[in-house]
Amino acid sequence: MAAEAGNEAREVAKLAELVVGGRASSRSELASLTGLPRSTVSRRVEHLLRIGLLVESGDGPSSGGRRPVLITINPAAGVVLSAYLGATHSRIAIADLSGQIEAEQSWKADIGDGPDRVLAGLVDRLLSLLDQHGRSPADVRAIGIGVPGPVEFATGTVVQPPIMPGWDGLAVPAILREHFHAPVLVDNDVNIMALGEYWFRGCHDEQLLFVKVGTGIGCGIITNGLVHRGADGAAGDIGHVRVAGHDDVICVCGNSSCLEAVASGSAIARQLAAEGLDVRYARDVVRLGQAGDPRVVRHVRVAGERIGEVLASMVNFYNPSQIVLGGSVAALRDDLLAGIRGVVYQRAVPLATRRLTIEACASGERAGVLGGAILAAQNALGPEQVARWLRAGTVSRMAR
Ligand SMILES: [Zn+2]
Repeated sequence: MAAEAGNEAREVAKLAELVVGGRASSRSELASLTGLPRSTVSRRVEHLLRIGLLVESGDGPSSGGRRPVLITINPAAGVVLSAYLGATHSRIAIADLSGQIEAEQSWKADIGDGPDRVLAGLVDRLLSLLDQHGRSPADVRAIGIGVPGPVEFATGTVVQPPIMPGWDGLAVPAILREHFHAPVLVDNDVNIMALGEYWFRGCHDEQLLFVKVGTGIGCGIITNGLVHRGADGAAGDIGHVRVAGHDDVICVCGNSSCLEAVASGSAIARQLAAEGLDVRYARDVVRLGQAGDPRVVRHVRVAGERIGEVLASMVNFYNPSQIVLGGSVAALRDDLLAGIRGVVYQRAVPLATRRLTIEACASGERAGVLGGAILAAQNALGPEQVARWLRAGTVSRMAR
């Protein structure tokens, strides 16, 4: 009986996802996309109409026979919230259950202010954004949050973050749940940005690596629209992969020759400072690089080549169809990409690079907030959540 209910929830969730994602708008389209019998689709759709997740919205164009009844997402079914907490800037958004953003807002905020201040400010802004758009906390179906540090995804706990003093061991969802009775998903910034970029590009059935080059270096892995996190949430941590020939360079992790220690924005800043330039941070590197300083350009290209060495191995191992470059140093995209492309296409095996594209991030500073909305939407329509709604008989009453 329980297995049957689980199966039903999975089928219902799949149908809901196809309608909400814009891939189907009638029962017959759902039947042909899923291969389910027409009678099963009709029964499942009745469930979705009854709990208020979908609504019928008039007749569609006829393809010969009777005009199909169109089904769409019910705007009253609720919203998801997204938040991207960066080191110095934050951004929040309200989105519909497909992850389409309806309203967003950004502000300057220092993650170093500590969790109490940062999260209290976040909650205030989320509540006021909801209020401005005629929504209440009771309309929220899921919340997706990105933070600039390692996260144990299953519990939303921040784990030994290098730039987030006071956050170590903090389970972020518990604090948000004091104000919102909805699932809260927390992930690291790179995974969230990777997810946002994947959907911004309109990818389907693709394998994407999102490489963030800023103060540090990280990588998010998206397989067929889902983040690959590994067993403990550490997948994609390419910043601490060893690059040969730099045994004298010690990394913050305690090892030597890490990619991050030789090719990140702060590493380039250190190399330039050693040559006598007035450079301290990744942002100084970007400023001088944009002004065309030839010494900076040279160091950025070399950094690109070192990143390319690591990525060539990743390409052989994972065979992505797209590599996307983001993060603050990606503002110097021409020089960084030149270095990366040269090495990847030379070192990776031909079969793995046949269709591979290596480009700069297209969604820019919005990648994180877009990804938070998609993560929340994926969870809001997941089989577990749909099973709760089916048991409660409605999407509007919160069933946890
Ligand atoms: Zn390291």
